[in-house]
Amino acid sequence: MPHLQLYKVAYKKKLFYGGIALLLFACSSEENEQILQGKTMGTTWMVKYIGSPLIQQKIIEDYLQQFNQVASTYINDSEISTLNQSPINKWLPISPQLEEIIKLSITVSKQTDGAFDITVGKAVNYWGFGADNEKQQPKKYEIGYTNIILKKNQLYKKKPIYIDLSAIAKGYAVDKIAEILQSAQINRYLIEIGGEIRTKGKNKKQQFWKVAIEQPNPVQRIIMQTIELKNQAIASSGSYRNFKQYNGKTISHTIDPSTAKPITHNIIASSVISSSTALADAYATAFMVLPIKRSLEISKKYSLSTLLVSGQMGDPSTLKKHYSGIFQP
Ligand code: ADP
Ligand code: MG
Repeated sequence: MPHLQLYKVAYKKKLFYGGIALLLFACSSEENEQILQGKTMGTTWMVKYIGSPLIQQKIIEDYLQQFNQVASTYINDSEISTLNQSPINKWLPISPQLEEIIKLSITVSKQTDGAFDITVGKAVNYWGFGADNEKQQPKKYEIGYTNIILKKNQLYKKKPIYIDLSAIAKGYAVDKIAEILQSAQINRYLIEIGGEIRTKGKNKKQQFWKVAIEQPNPVQRIIMQTIELKNQAIASSGSYRNFKQYNGKTISHTIDPSTAKPITHNIIASSVISSSTALADAYATAFMVLPIKRSLEISKKYSLSTLLVSGQMGDPSTLKKHYSGIFQP
């Protein structure tokens, strides 16, 4: 679906680091920074790092290609697509990576009262935000992470669910690229896929990496807040760029698993800081679904820093911020 991919490219640039400001203040004490970048998962990726040895672009590209062959529903013969087409009530073999990402997903589902749920795939497709077409509005029993049973190298589907990993895949791949850099002894870096970011150490100015969070605004790019990350990851979710019109109403690409329908309340953006990018990515989606009070409670319980924005899309005067952790002013 090329048009959707374009949509995602535009939408995904919701977080960016203070690259322009850093360039303006460039001085001779700066160290050499390497930048690698490319495209993946309908969006862009970037790795910045300081130090040696040099990492080949191809190492990252090969990893991302291999990961997409595991987790992308946009690839017909990927492992996840094959799994989605496989029969129910049968133990199916799965790779270690797929097992790990599904395990993390189920953990977040349990922690978020089911607000994050990778089995929303049929609803995602039905509402036009997925890789496949779905003509029938999904039934309740076709959604629910409790329909998946995992054991070592195997997965069992109790119901004909469709697994969609879009809300955790980018964060997960960022974590894996971090492992690649770490194993090459590189420990000062910023890795980003489609706005999901992980940092380690300090940048070329010997300062902690800074990222800017955009104001939820469908037409303009305005910085709402900048934040310094100390060996942390940040991920964001939002309804303000990836949405569609349906019967004259704007609908979000975030599905409430309890109704199998797009969310309708007034939370329009969320950002979450955690030590894991995969988890931050998943929580950011869950907090688009849950009531604000509950998201802040969960953030506290699991030591997350969270920024939620509520209000009317396209009307900055209505925007209200809700914080936990280091976002607190
Ligand atoms: P965002 O940056 O807004 O989180 P993502 O691409 O990370 O965007 O995740 C949104 C995608 O996740 C949707 O397009 C859909 O494929 C999937 N999704 C929607 N609702 C949920 C949900 N409640 N739990 C898990 N995945 C979801
Ligand atoms: Mg997400």
